Amino acid sequence: MSSPIEIVSAVFSQYFDWIMFAAMGLVALWSVSRRNGKQRHARQLLRKAIHEDATAISLHPEVDPRRCTGCGTCTAACPEGEVLQLVKHRSVLVAPAKCVGHGECERACPMGAITLVFGTKTRGIDIPRITSDFETNVPGVYIAGELGGMGLIRNAVKQGHLAAKHALENLRTIGGHTDTDILIVGAGPAGMSASLTAVAAKKRYLCIEQNSFGGTVANFPRQKIVMTSPVVLPIVGPLKFKSNKVPKEELLEKWERIRKATTLKIQEAITFRGFEVHNGIFVVATSAGLIRTRKVILAMGVRGTPRKLGLPNEDLPKVTYHLVDPQQYRNRSIAIVGSGNSAAEAAIALANPRYENKVTLLVRGQGLSRCNDENERNVSALIAEDRIQMLTASEVKEIDRDFLVVQQKEQTVQLPNDYLLILAGTELPHKFLMGLGIEIEKKFGEPLATKLPDRKAL
Ligand SMILES: Cc1cc2nc3c(=O)[nH]c(=O)nc-3n(C[C@H](O)[C@H](O)[C@H](O)COP(=O)(O)OP(=O)(O)OC[C@H]3O[C@@H](n4cnc5c(N)ncnc54)[C@H](O)[C@@H]3O)c2cc1C
Repeated sequence: MSSPIEIVSAVFSQYFDWIMFAAMGLVALWSVSRRNGKQRHARQLLRKAIHEDATAISLHPEVDPRRCTGCGTCTAACPEGEVLQLVKHRSVLVAPAKCVGHGECERACPMGAITLVFGTKTRGIDIPRITSDFETNVPGVYIAGELGGMGLIRNAVKQGHLAAKHALENLRTIGGHTDTDILIVGAGPAGMSASLTAVAAKKRYLCIEQNSFGGTVANFPRQKIVMTSPVVLPIVGPLKFKSNKVPKEELLEKWERIRKATTLKIQEAITFRGFEVHNGIFVVATSAGLIRTRKVILAMGVRGTPRKLGLPNEDLPKVTYHLVDPQQYRNRSIAIVGSGNSAAEAAIALANPRYENKVTLLVRGQGLSRCNDENERNVSALIAEDRIQMLTASEVKEIDRDFLVVQQKEQTVQLPNDYLLILAGTELPHKFLMGLGIEIEKKFGEPLATKLPDRKAL
């Protein structure tokens, strides 16, 4: 008599072809249903974006459907999550408001079907006019970093280097005394990189900073996780971390060590006010007096003036526009206005059960339309645990010492309130730039004039 194993193996060998055929059929069915599920989800996201009239006007990808083969490489490359997805076998921007312009999709696309652009055909965005060398229409004045319209530390570092390199290669021999060859305004990543470039070129430079070294990163909340792609700093070389997500303290510590090792000339607590040009020399007005220089690099970022609600009582001490240390807030009723990553991350930090706060997120739209998938998931989990309350379609109407009056759809809600954090973006300093004679242009779905080289080229 045959054993059960022998019987099974006899059946298996007799029907081998049929079994393989069935297995392949099942795999094919599974992969088609998975693909259909993903496409349905992508279409849902797209419908939501259209319904909310969400558009990306800051730097974002534009996909050429004639070149796109629907390989999906770009969709997987985005660090922010489901921003680009395949719809009808073509890559489509399904969550435009979440795009922060990483550009990983553009780099990943094997067909060259993606271009990073500013604005859309119908909605323009104002950005300073700069040449491919980051020089403005005022000869000798450069703009580098986020002030030029592109966010991210990696871009700031590259632009600071390229602007300083061009400025230093084109120092004209002008008669008359100058205090420095190149004045760099702002000591964020762009200003640091420009300063290091000047050190490498052994030229005279000075970097002034109204607050402290580190720029926007120095003002991130304690222990905020920063996403950093590897960058190459002049003199220093590649700056790598164990992971591409590091606490801000670790990033700042590294920058601080570089600053000390290269004895960077950064003067803190000095504010740039403007300049005049006399015989080809810039006479720069600062809070510490006049500085005469041949070239100016504006690396001032865009965080100087936070966007306000424009309500009476907004000057109460309980209203703030930054979250630096979540530990300062304990057992308080806190409302946060905003639907981007800053607002989401502040809510997550403040809802830590150790602090016992009552956290309310006040968003204008239907949800956290402008934040990445990870933050959105974390906030949703905290809402489910009742640690964050989110009021959608809401607007603050009145700020009182002890409460807020919030309009939510047709009803008016009174919320007990100890602190109000307004994290709704910043006012761009374009008026200030225009006052310096720098032209601002409107971009309607156009790429930046500058083409950044890849890392190795630095
Ligand atoms: C909440 C939040 C989270 C972010 N997370 C990330 C992330 O995870 N990864 C990433 O790559 N990027 C992130 N970014 C973006 C990144 O921080 C910026 O793109 C980057 O810091 C821009 O660098 P910058 O040198 O151009 O400007 P900044 O870093 O803003 O530095 C500009 C400096 O100029 C100074 N300054 C301004 N005006 C004057 C003046 N008149 N006189 C003297 N000094 C002046 C400012 O005080 C500031 O220190 C985030 C931004 C925010 C707001």
